[in-house]
Amino acid sequence: MKTITAYKCNKCGHVMYPRHERCLNCNKRDFKEINPTKNGKLLTYSIVNELPWGIDERGRVLGIVEFDNGIRVMGRVKSDRVKIGMKLTASWEEVRFINGVKVYGLTFY
Ligand SMILES: [Zn+2]
Repeated sequence: MKTITAYKCNKCGHVMYPRHERCLNCNKRDFKEINPTKNGKLLTYSIVNELPWGIDERGRVLGIVEFDNGIRVMGRVKSDRVKIGMKLTASWEEVRFINGVKVYGLTFY
């Protein structure tokens, strides 16, 4: 799986993704790069019914997922029974087409 890079504050341990100039918690500028683990849990989600061109489906689920090491991301959730708190596994796959070109993103199962 392609990995994303998140930033962990060396002073207070706060995890940020994407990067910010200063820690959102303590204002310091000293970070360590970290990558997500494979597994996470669903914090919250939304079902999007009005989707842009290039997405051939209805009712796509977008979720906020927290990985085991604290990184929080937004991604597509593919599950028949979506429930807050459920365990999910991340993968990197096509999420839509733009001008005939595949666009990839985080997808959770
Ligand atoms: Zn900090």
